[in-house]
Amino acid sequence: MSTHLTTVAGVPVDTRHFIGGERVASTETFTDVSPIDGSVLAEISRGTAMEAAAAVAAAKAAFPAWAATPRAERARLLHAIADGVERRLEELALVETTDNGALLRSHRRGVMPRVAHNFRFFANWLLELGHEDFTTRGHTNHVTWDPAGPCVLITPWNAPLMLATWKVAPALAAGDTVVLKPAEWSPLTASLLADIAAEAGLPAGVLNVVQGYGSEVGDPLTAHPDVRRISFTGSVPTARHISASAAANLTPLSLELGGKSPLLVFADADLDLAAGLAVEQYDNAGQVCLAATRILVEAPVAEEFTRRFTEKAAALRQGDPREETTDIGPTIHPRQLEKIDGFVRRALEAGARAVIGGHRGEGQYYVPTLLTDVRQDSEIVQEEVFGPVLTLQTFEDEDEAVRLANDTRFGLAATVATGDAERAARVTARLVAGTVWVNCFFVRDLKAPFGGSRHSGVGREGGTWSFDFYCDVKNTVTAPKGFKDHG
Ligand code: NAP
Ligand code: MG
Repeated sequence: MSTHLTTVAGVPVDTRHFIGGERVASTETFTDVSPIDGSVLAEISRGTAMEAAAAVAAAKAAFPAWAATPRAERARLLHAIADGVERRLEELALVETTDNGALLRSHRRGVMPRVAHNFRFFANWLLELGHEDFTTRGHTNHVTWDPAGPCVLITPWNAPLMLATWKVAPALAAGDTVVLKPAEWSPLTASLLADIAAEAGLPAGVLNVVQGYGSEVGDPLTAHPDVRRISFTGSVPTARHISASAAANLTPLSLELGGKSPLLVFADADLDLAAGLAVEQYDNAGQVCLAATRILVEAPVAEEFTRRFTEKAAALRQGDPREETTDIGPTIHPRQLEKIDGFVRRALEAGARAVIGGHRGEGQYYVPTLLTDVRQDSEIVQEEVFGPVLTLQTFEDEDEAVRLANDTRFGLAATVATGDAERAARVTARLVAGTVWVNCFFVRDLKAPFGGSRHSGVGREGGTWSFDFYCDVKNTVTAPKGFKDHG
């Protein structure tokens, strides 16, 4: 076996970059560890400015032919990648769970089918992406979505392949070429995606994968003058850094960032449903950007809501994410665990009370936590923890609910539990958020826009919004035959 292959959960994974259709090794490596048991999974090629430059050059070289490839052929190749994902679904699920600790059953049943769907969805949308024509004084205005060029796509570890393909699929559909940089804590499925794309017949250089630390390969990728789009999902501080780096070339950016989203529970809500929605926020051990981590409950029902919440939370099983019966797995990394623990300790020191949890579990697990007696201006209410930690506050009326809900620097999502449709309409209209759910959570049509307001992001992706971002939108105005009057 090549020394560049590692076997993870029985699946061979190449530990090198994928550049211009070839596997390329760096002299240095970094160690990839499993959050399940701390075992070493692989020594992964640690990219430098050299590999970043080579990947952008490969993407640039492949761009003209890919951009000129008929849409039907691009769509066919995207469906072929989706077929490959479906064929290797079990392997992808096993590798992802081993690498990032999220539940195997969700990878099998939800996440990996959605990865395939990302490719199918954007392939189909491409074929429907029409042109819009307008007529002005007899002149036709003909709008087209032209391929833009090489894109740099940078993704986080909490849902590695799902978030990567949410960008890769529309970029490829648009006729762009791609350099994907996955997170160093979960680099493996991106490597498998490169294999799948090559097997599907995607031409060399159209999809490149560069591994490494963001701090090392980040700037050479995002500051590169040949890069025409940067799409980033991750944290606010990294987004600031990338924005500054992209500024030199005015490279258009799409930023999907963190959140501190509220769940508003009104007294007229189905309290069982509301408690269920609240407990759902522990999914993926709370490592979900959209998570509604601030529970705001109308005062008269707070006690009853808390009782039902506590009952449901007590039924959650924390443990090995490969077990079918597990509900909450480990946190991704010892550093993340430290971070979560620090947030909770500081909150407790500041006077918060733990209704449940409030401390670590064994190993790399953090016990699901609900904190109350928290101040609106405190760190625990204002900052994203990215772990299984929720806060509970009460409100007296609709105005106070909306005020508290909107009072952070974020605006990614919000969830409202109410039995009153008119109240739902009033409240949702006043919330600052890219996505608002009423009596539900997480459901979303890929045709709909996705993104965050304020510090939760810049721009929207999904459906047409993805093509608007990954394309150069052009208007061609043509005069009617024989038209001479330009006065
Ligand atoms: P992060 O630290 O910002 O990292 C995200 C990605 O950026 C990683 O691939 C990272 O590489 C890379 N990176 C780091 N420094 C860089 C630099 N200077 N230049 C270029 N790239 C750089 O975020 P994270 O901790 O992985 O992810 C959690 C965050 O993502 C949370 O805030 C969460 O809310 C957010 N998130 C948002 C969404 C959304 O759709 N809105 C979805 C999921 C997650 P390395 O890790 O290899 O260093
Ligand atoms: Mg890992």
